[in-house]
Amino acid sequence: MKEFDLAIIGAGPAGISAAVEAATMGASVALIDENSLPGGKVFAHTDNHLDPFERGIRSQLLHHLEKVAHKVAVFLETEVWNILDQWIVSLYQRGLSGSGLTDIKARKLIISIGALERILPFPGWTLPGVFSAGGLNRLAKMGIVPGKRILIAGSGPLQIVLAHNLLNAGASIIGIVNVTSPRRISARGLELISAVNRLVLKSGLNYLINIKRHKIPIYFSHAISRAYGINEVEGATIVRVDKSHRPIRGTEKQITTDCIGYGFGLIPSVDITRLCGCDHVFDEELAYWRPKLNERMETSKPGIFVAGDCLTVKGYLAAIEEGKTAATEACIQLGFTNRKHSGASLAVSAKRLKRFKRFARAIEAVSRPHSGLLDIISDDTVVCRCEEVTLRDIRSAVAEGARDVNDIKRRTRLGMGHCQGRFCGQVINELIWKLTGNIGKREMFTPRIPARPIPFGILAGECGS
Ligand SMILES: Cc1cc2nc3c(=O)[nH]c(=O)nc-3n(C[C@H](O)[C@H](O)[C@H](O)COP(=O)(O)OP(=O)(O)OC[C@H]3O[C@@H](n4cnc5c(N)ncnc54)[C@H](O)[C@@H]3O)c2cc1C
Repeated sequence: MKEFDLAIIGAGPAGISAAVEAATMGASVALIDENSLPGGKVFAHTDNHLDPFERGIRSQLLHHLEKVAHKVAVFLETEVWNILDQWIVSLYQRGLSGSGLTDIKARKLIISIGALERILPFPGWTLPGVFSAGGLNRLAKMGIVPGKRILIAGSGPLQIVLAHNLLNAGASIIGIVNVTSPRRISARGLELISAVNRLVLKSGLNYLINIKRHKIPIYFSHAISRAYGINEVEGATIVRVDKSHRPIRGTEKQITTDCIGYGFGLIPSVDITRLCGCDHVFDEELAYWRPKLNERMETSKPGIFVAGDCLTVKGYLAAIEEGKTAATEACIQLGFTNRKHSGASLAVSAKRLKRFKRFARAIEAVSRPHSGLLDIISDDTVVCRCEEVTLRDIRSAVAEGARDVNDIKRRTRLGMGHCQGRFCGQVINELIWKLTGNIGKREMFTPRIPARPIPFGILAGECGS
């Protein structure tokens, strides 16, 4: 089994900067990512899909990685599907001859697996033509426009980025439906302006000017309540919402659209930290689970560090800074540096991170969805796409006595599909509380291997051999 000082799971901006930092200090590093190129959600594209600023960051990251290539083994098209104690990392390398299953061993781990989209189900959300905002953004960046009248709905800063990229790709956007009220935004306006990074502000303003120039209507305090169509989306109903995002009956409007980009921002991906048994906390203000860390970026499992959007969602500039910090902390433990030598650079990163965190927290708190949106989900709305479990199925399970998320999973198969509950798991607690009329303990599905799907035949072959 190959051994490394440090294994880094996820080669996005956080993972790459961690690998560069650790390798520069002398550590041997395994950098693992499921994609065919390093760079993560934003930078694993070829250059021509990025704006000039992003292009500069990408080439800097890759150039630095190239310089330490002799110390970093990069595993691409490789999924981490299990982690055993002290740290044996199980990999599934797609496209290799043989089974593609390998284990590596590392003295320390950095988990930098990024974020996933926050998606709440609504009637019609599984119709062809309804995309997640991040997925549609990726297409737009590649110059692909999958509709003639595009509607953007949900909340969060990704909406503005998406609108800008769609406009650049020549799309026609018929409206932006945003659940947040202008009052909620202005209540934290000063905090947002004082914490925003100058470069982020500049691009944000450019995007907004572009949206204004195209005279795109923005429906604040509105949500999409239904998408309809026979074989694909043909239209949507939008509705005004109150301050807990409950739909206000009688305020519905119909909009003709053939493509919807939908989502409420991002939440940390916690499947791998949960698989490792790290403690997590539910952040009530941001409404998501995140791993609990000490001031040295280490989880409750000594030797496992976390960096980037899988800790809290803050964007790629913060992810780069956090990657460096986590790598330095791991290298202090490994003996490649010490606090006296690295103290000054840790302090600079901490100062930069403080500002990123302040801005991210304010913007995420403003744009997070509230529980009133669950009133939009009708009995025949699919809640778990992978296993096609509807609200009606969940209602029946609750009527039969199910009271917690794992019981619902056992009775309905919700959360047992391809995505392993990453999406339906976002709303299941609130749905149970709504159906039972009791706010119970918030829980997540019990983590199970494989964390990523592996063809059954391959696993069976490996077990049999
Ligand atoms: C769908 C989506 C679209 C986005 N679009 C934009 C955008 O256009 N502009 C922008 O500024 N920000 C965007 N973001 C946010 C941006 O991705 C992050 O702020 C930034 O990339 C964070 O860097 P990171 O290194 O923490 O994570 P990421 O860049 O997400 O990198 C994490 C990497 O880990 C890999 N990974 C995860 N689990 C495993 C596993 N089990 N095995 C192997 N590899 C694994 C992932 O595939 C990914 O490559 C988007 C986020 C998402 C989720």
